[in-house]
Amino acid sequence: MSYEQEKQVAIEAALTAAKLCEQVRQEQVPEAMEKSDKSPVTVADLGSQAVICRALAMAFPDDLVVGEEDASQLRQPEMADQLNRVTHYVKSVVGDATSDQILDWIDRGNSEIGGRYWTLDPIDGTKGFLRQDQYAVALALVELGEVKLGVLACPALPISPYEPDGEKGVLFVAVRGQGATMVPISGGKPQPIQVTKADSNEAMRFVESVESGHGDHSRQDAVAKAVGITAPSLRMDSQAKYGAVASGRASLYLRLPSPKSPDYREKIWDHGAGTIVVEEAGGRVTDMYGKPLNFSLGAKLSDNQGVIVSNGVIHDTVLEALRETASV
Ligand code: AMP
Ligand code: MG
Repeated sequence: MSYEQEKQVAIEAALTAAKLCEQVRQEQVPEAMEKSDKSPVTVADLGSQAVICRALAMAFPDDLVVGEEDASQLRQPEMADQLNRVTHYVKSVVGDATSDQILDWIDRGNSEIGGRYWTLDPIDGTKGFLRQDQYAVALALVELGEVKLGVLACPALPISPYEPDGEKGVLFVAVRGQGATMVPISGGKPQPIQVTKADSNEAMRFVESVESGHGDHSRQDAVAKAVGITAPSLRMDSQAKYGAVASGRASLYLRLPSPKSPDYREKIWDHGAGTIVVEEAGGRVTDMYGKPLNFSLGAKLSDNQGVIVSNGVIHDTVLEALRETASV
């Protein structure tokens, strides 16, 4: 299958959602509401999920969507102000929409997984979004447990790693068997991307989360050193880290369980799109024990712990270093 229609719909939806998110960031200091798990959510997360679920519902009415957000909080009468703001931003990008429709679109993203499903993080890295740092709109299509298509819109990522203050906004797209590409969000011709090569002259770098609670920074440091990476890590929020590896800005992304939450299981929407973008750029993605990520078990990657993303060439060395640092 070429997934051409799925690709076009996903790209269009992610770009529309990214536009909404950037509008929110430009017009107001985004305020966070607190979810039941204490994590933050903003009007942009909810608006982004609404516009993407709407687009998927129009093009693929029978498809399941497993998204990060739901509208239960927003349906409460005391949230009327927030609902009005979500409605305002959704209308600014998709024209006529009522608050009731928006609530229903958001809740279309509350399916369980199935044989074919989409997984959506409407704003991956909400903490980065709030800090004016990196975030991503991440959408992936999974069939029979295999990610087939991934779209990652990174509105705050510099187009050129050599010009950090230059134009920002990068869209990564990958389809299984067709390679991965990168294009400025502002438009242009998609360019194929590749991970770093073994004989790359560039100094190897690794990426990790900004949030210390989303990884084990001291062990990540030790593992990176053990595989010969001497440069300090590049800290970045969201699946933009996968984009960094896929486009050769870094050779490795380490995400080891935080000592504060050693039993944490990663969510499918935090890794679906990123995984295929890196794999199609020639890289490799496994958990910390070398197992492939299993997208067929539910909303959590319950069979995996930690995530290791590399240019492929150094992957086995990284896994070996992990086994060694485990015993100290
Ligand atoms: P990042 O921007 O890479 O730090 O990752 C952001 C994502 O981390 C969020 O979307 C959360 O789903 C996820 N997250 C929340 N708690 C944890 C945790 N204890 N360990 C790893 N990831 C987490
Ligand atoms: Mg996320």
